[in-house]
Amino acid sequence: MIRKILAMMLAVISLSWVLSGCDLIQQTFNSDASPTVSPAEMDQQTWTNAMQTKQVPTLDGVKYGDIIDWEQNCLIYAVYPEVTGKETITSEMQGYVQNKVDSFKTEVSQGKGQTESGGKPELSITYEPYELKDAVVSFKVTTFADSGVSKTDNYITTFVYNLNTQVKMSLDNVFNGNMDYLTRISDLVRNKLNANSVLQSNLDQSLFESGTAPQKENFQNFVVGDHEVIFYFNQYQIAPAAAGSFEVSLSFDDLEDVLWSDIYDPEAAAAAAASASAAAAAEAALPDFLKSEAGDMKAFTLDGIDPLNDKVVALTFDDGPNPSTTREILKALKKHDALATFFVLGERVEEYPKILREIYESGNEIGNHSYDHKDFKQISDEDIETEIDKTNQAIYETVGARPILVRPPYGNITDDIADLIGRPCVLWTVDPEDWKYKDEDIDYNNVMEYVGDGDIVLMHDIYEASADAAVRVIEELTDRGYKLVTISQMIQIAEARGQDVGLIVRDLRTTTKD
Ligand code: ZN
Repeated sequence: MIRKILAMMLAVISLSWVLSGCDLIQQTFNSDASPTVSPAEMDQQTWTNAMQTKQVPTLDGVKYGDIIDWEQNCLIYAVYPEVTGKETITSEMQGYVQNKVDSFKTEVSQGKGQTESGGKPELSITYEPYELKDAVVSFKVTTFADSGVSKTDNYITTFVYNLNTQVKMSLDNVFNGNMDYLTRISDLVRNKLNANSVLQSNLDQSLFESGTAPQKENFQNFVVGDHEVIFYFNQYQIAPAAAGSFEVSLSFDDLEDVLWSDIYDPEAAAAAAASASAAAAAEAALPDFLKSEAGDMKAFTLDGIDPLNDKVVALTFDDGPNPSTTREILKALKKHDALATFFVLGERVEEYPKILREIYESGNEIGNHSYDHKDFKQISDEDIETEIDKTNQAIYETVGARPILVRPPYGNITDDIADLIGRPCVLWTVDPEDWKYKDEDIDYNNVMEYVGDGDIVLMHDIYEASADAAVRVIEELTDRGYKLVTISQMIQIAEARGQDVGLIVRDLRTTTKD
């Protein structure tokens, strides 16, 4: 997923900056006893360091690569986007930038190695990323080139990609070709530019009209943002050179009937906004300790569950994941439209990431059961934190989110340890001791003898007998009209019923067998 986190304009490198920087460095250098380095080398290092630490605008899921080159005869600073998991897009963007760099070097080598003002030839290529949902990514690429051979060049090019197919998109992929979208764009753009004072004070009517006429070549430079399409007009296109370049943003609302519905569908957008605000309201209503931070799994909502009148049981499975037995339980849950919670061990997540993904993708809940099943009462606070963090990290790397629930190994927990963990530490109310018997019938009977409305059942999905018993328990409980819920749901149900949630998540082994 790509989310916009920062978009920042980049200043074009200027030679005067390099020169003033160099004066400063020379002073510093003379004042200490460092070995002699020629000023030219110092400039290079300073300049390179400055270029390497420049801020590049980015999105979640978009890193950047760079080409920073101090050559005998020119300066090159070029960055290109690297889209995680999208090799085609990345290599096309890198190829575009590398090509520009290569032809610039060739051009410089044919000249006198000096710009018109006597400075070093320089090339700067920077970009800004834009994203629409998880569907379209766009890049506005700004190039500044002063080779000393041809005149100084400063222009914008754009790239718009379908994120799924990684195919470059044209106007016709964004706008509905059955509509006269060019006339609409042209009208809207002209309206906006009529209010632009820079353009109006440099107005050349015929240039303006030809440059904004409803023809595709006038609107090739565009990006698709979250709720807008931005068009760019380079120097000379719509106004005399002195006026520079222009950009015009048109909102989806103004374009809605000429955009393809997969780009913007007002009904779908309204529905998405409504469901996002419903989700935010549900999240806000959660008890504090079930609220999630960025990167955390979300607590399950009580959708379709009547906490006061439904009969509910939460099945929990510890010590997995385990390929065959966990899958058997997942299959039975799915068949009966039931959910459960899996408290997994970090080391087994690393061994069986695929099973963890299956648990997650099947819509069941995942909790943290430590990394390698150490007794929290026997280890230091620091080691407890390591057990929790390593497991969270393993889960995060596998499914992209961290669990919000913890079950301490052996159920060993104190208030101090629970405070240290800072997450709900979930125990159980029914314990068939399946790890001891490893017998399908005994496990099944031990659950069914004690289980009732509001119970949390502890089982282990690493034993064949436990899995077989669990399949029967799932079937029998749903037949008896129980809803099988997750732990985060059970906590909310208990709260709605006025029970002390602190007891559920700390110590409530009232029906544990001796
Ligand atoms: Zn365990």
